[in-house]
Amino acid sequence: MTPELKRAESLILEIPDYPLEGVLFRDITPLLADAEAFRATVDALIAPFRGSFDVVAGLEARGFLLASAAAYAAGVGLMPVRKSGKLPRPAAKMSYALEYGIAEVEAHADFPRGTRVLLIDDVLATGGTLAAGRDLLRELGYAHAGTAVLFEIEGLGGRDALNDPRLHTVFRS
Ligand code: AMP
Repeated sequence: MTPELKRAESLILEIPDYPLEGVLFRDITPLLADAEAFRATVDALIAPFRGSFDVVAGLEARGFLLASAAAYAAGVGLMPVRKSGKLPRPAAKMSYALEYGIAEVEAHADFPRGTRVLLIDDVLATGGTLAAGRDLLRELGYAHAGTAVLFEIEGLGGRDALNDPRLHTVFRS
């Protein structure tokens, strides 16, 4: 691991009991605040996928921060995958189970079918959010180029739930 990536890892803070008791929240804002660490992280996020995607999709909300930078770095367009009810035009929807209740992600169909999409988010926990994002993109007729995640929480089953041979996580614990 390069010194910049090592520093980036040290800048992910662990916040106990946020937003709920028992949750160890990974706060990436100090990493984003460090120019070199942020750049190294974005480069590491997309490195295995160079040349294999046409568009980057970011999951709301922290996925947007990483996906925007990744799209700029790779010279490709950006697709925001939003939580329900926020897109102004007709959108494809995919619902998924939360611990309590059901959530939905949505995206506009602004790219031709067959477009190769790299899906990006900040944290992989149970995998439900990324799985819904990937299913949504498939529903839209896009090709799944891979899943790139800044931080993987091991032990919550996200990797198995996602079951994605093209899953790449930069940091994990
Ligand atoms: P999951 O669907 O369980 O994999 O949860 C992943 C989504 O929830 C991501 O969009 C994360 O931003 C957020 N998330 C879940 N758990 C955490 C955590 N411990 N720290 C930070 N973000 C989390």
